[in-house]
Amino acid sequence: MKLTFLGATNTVTGSKFLLTLGTKKILIDCGLFQGLKELRLRNWSKFPIDPKTIDVVVLTHAHIDHTGYLPLLIKNGFTGKVYCSSATKDLCAVLLPDSGYLQEEEAKFLNKHGYSKHKPALPLYTQQDAIESLNYIHPIQFRKQYKIDEETYISLIPAGHILGATFVQFKHYDTTILFSGDLGRPNDIIMHAPAVIQAADYLVLESTYGNRLHKKINPLDELADIVTRTVARDGTVVIPAFAVGRAQHLLYLMYLLKKENRIPNVPIYLDSPMAKEATQLFVKYAELHRLEPALSQAVCEVATYINSKEESQALDTVTSPKIIISASGMLEGGRVLHHIKMFAPDAKNTIVFAGYQATGTRGADMINGKPSIKVFGQSVPVNAEIKVLSNMSAHADYEEILDWLSNFNHHPRKVFITHGEPEAAASLRDKIEEKYRWKCVVPEYLQTEQLG
Ligand SMILES: [Zn+2]
Repeated sequence: MKLTFLGATNTVTGSKFLLTLGTKKILIDCGLFQGLKELRLRNWSKFPIDPKTIDVVVLTHAHIDHTGYLPLLIKNGFTGKVYCSSATKDLCAVLLPDSGYLQEEEAKFLNKHGYSKHKPALPLYTQQDAIESLNYIHPIQFRKQYKIDEETYISLIPAGHILGATFVQFKHYDTTILFSGDLGRPNDIIMHAPAVIQAADYLVLESTYGNRLHKKINPLDELADIVTRTVARDGTVVIPAFAVGRAQHLLYLMYLLKKENRIPNVPIYLDSPMAKEATQLFVKYAELHRLEPALSQAVCEVATYINSKEESQALDTVTSPKIIISASGMLEGGRVLHHIKMFAPDAKNTIVFAGYQATGTRGADMINGKPSIKVFGQSVPVNAEIKVLSNMSAHADYEEILDWLSNFNHHPRKVFITHGEPEAAASLRDKIEEKYRWKCVVPEYLQTEQLG
């Protein structure tokens, strides 16, 4: 048994873990690297092992940093099955083709303006590649054991975080190995708490917020204040949001604020066809979250949905106050970029961040106070008010992680701390070692560990 870390080492992106159990090679998550250029370049380099030799892929959840490499893995020869929950498959059907589309758009843009040293610049994969990759995905049920071979079983266990998100648990002979994927929060207003886990011999644990605590502020109060102030100065609120997860959370908050008359009656636009489809999946999978079907439906109706590119661009010509929720959440691409270009230069507007901003992204630059950012090759001055909602995260903070670990009734043989920037991963390692005395390792990129 061995485990090789092909991503999410000292970074929050590119999650890929290769588990070798006897003769079987299993890849847990198949994410794209995002953010810093040195990380993104890894998406383009030769995959560290021949994709043809991988037997099975298992996805913890649909976010692109956990799934966005799948079309390329298949293009490069992977022919096995991909297992995940049913909701994750449906969300992949929304997110992966969009990821292919964005890759194609970026290549087109680079070619048009001659920005690439590659002639012509090519997409990592196309929308069509992404659509074809969906045929490899086979949904499996929660909490059931599925046989991979005579001695190996997998099961998916609810992880909170986003719709369909799971832990992946392997049983190989008597050894259990648990991958946390992204760990949700105990008191999220939409998602259920992550399932209680009492034992694992090896644990691969995320550490996005390994060195931070979420402020115990009610995001409703924060959001009511931001919207009221911005509208009073005749401004527009732009909220970059992950299409899956944060966008629905924001819609729910908007629904509550409107219902309680706590914000002025300005239009709310959800400018992301993906977020629209993802929102409808919340109605389909009502049992996977806390909102009743009728309430889910009412939340869907709080916003006006923007479908075409033209409608999206038309929003920028409207000068009256409004709220625009649009993807992508870290300003790495998508329609939100033209809204940023339009609204960031004017101090009457507010840009509100609702999710984690990975190092090297435009979102991280903005919250760190950079006076201008580059959009479509142009420098855009940032004069708008920049706000970060402090308690909106879909990731457990370190206290919540330590609480979740307190359910273990015997200590794991080793904990691998992944999916965090270097300080976050190191800090979580120290905290776990101090509190529980468990052996923790922060693996490096391409590091291999023998298990058992
Ligand atoms: Zn995630």
